[in-house]
Amino acid sequence: MNNADPRHHSQLFMTPDTPTLLSCITVICLLFGSYFIFSEPSHNTRERRFWYASPFLAGGISGIFFTVPSILPGLWGLRIGAIFMLLAYGAGWQAIRITIGHRPKAARILIPCAVSLSLSALAGIIGSVHILSSFCRALVITGFNACALYELQKKTTEKTHAENILWNLLIVYTVLNALIVPFVPWLPAPFGAKGTTIWSVTAYNFMTIIEVTVVALALIAIPRERLAALHHKLTLQDPLTGAGNRRALKEWVTINYINKKPIVLLVLDIDHFKSINDACGHATGDKVIIAVKSVCEQILPKPSSFFRIGGEEFIAVFPYTTVHDALTTGHKIRQEFTKRSTNFVGQNIEVTLSIGGAIRLSSGTPWLTLLDSADAALYTAKREGRNRIIIAPDSEAPLTAEAC
Ligand code: GH3
Ligand code: MG
Ligand code: MG
Repeated sequence: MNNADPRHHSQLFMTPDTPTLLSCITVICLLFGSYFIFSEPSHNTRERRFWYASPFLAGGISGIFFTVPSILPGLWGLRIGAIFMLLAYGAGWQAIRITIGHRPKAARILIPCAVSLSLSALAGIIGSVHILSSFCRALVITGFNACALYELQKKTTEKTHAENILWNLLIVYTVLNALIVPFVPWLPAPFGAKGTTIWSVTAYNFMTIIEVTVVALALIAIPRERLAALHHKLTLQDPLTGAGNRRALKEWVTINYINKKPIVLLVLDIDHFKSINDACGHATGDKVIIAVKSVCEQILPKPSSFFRIGGEEFIAVFPYTTVHDALTTGHKIRQEFTKRSTNFVGQNIEVTLSIGGAIRLSSGTPWLTLLDSADAALYTAKREGRNRIIIAPDSEAPLTAEAC
């Protein structure tokens, strides 16, 4: 065989054949389906396993029927393949519903699929019922994609990276499918009602492989991203009060302290807390600590940031208005805390709070300098008899006699 032999060229440029293309997507779908059934560690319930696996398993079954339609008599192989394809899209929508915390709604996918199956049962390989059936199928696929997109759009909390990728993919696929719908009578199958061409099958397969792969990877990534975000949140949280801890304070300083807006920093410390623990027990001591958090949450102006930086020591940061306002806020916190915690401590013990404050107007006072000033003011408040607030005299704001 020489180079001029046309058989030589046909061997070099092989055209893909439909069964090979279809069997590729079938294998991909079945692999992802098996993964979700047997290996996905975040799916601890049978229901989750079922719904995550079902789009891929339904896609795989559809692929088997399309690859070998002769396994059923007449057109039934193709009809059943088409119905499983619709079920795959519908189940994908339900899996996305589950990832964002909704219950699956099987009826919403079964009814359109039943309508489509009835139409295709009446249709032949050509004719108006066949066109109507193809039209219905394209509409249902667009609808399922659009519903999945709508579910993701409704999600109120910030989207993870994988959710954003999934969201963009669904926009593209919903638009593409919607564009196909009006042209169904003139497009070759699987897009439309005309006979298949190798290129329509190739294009359809590429589209499906991309969608299947991105949806599967997103369904794998989303629970992990959520878990990572939860772990990160927990590393920044004090488990007793739910307030930010020292690590959260460090992060807050790195992100927010460069902001030049005037701020008030308060360091709060419960007075004689050790003796409260000794007299009333550790559990009551814990309640007193929690009371500081809830009182501050109620009284601190918005926006403000609050952290528990040690056993019975806290830090509050909020925007500066006047020294008078800063002092009033501190006094209110002290009074409300004493009122609230005396209720559950009982035994005629008065629980009090000392507060040291420092104010930064707009100059570049480093955080540690400001913190040292507030600490020194707290130390003075303790030395002068506790149960009081003192604003550091070296603060940038002009202090009045009332302030010290
Ligand atoms: P001062 O008025 O000078 O601040 O005295 P104090 O007794 O409040 O301070 P000290 O530092 O001597 O004691 C703090 C106590 O806080 C000691 C420790 O047992 C207690 N503590 C630390 N963390 C916790 C906690 O999570 N729960 C409880 N109940 N007690 C805690
Ligand atoms: Mg103390
Ligand atoms: Mg202390």
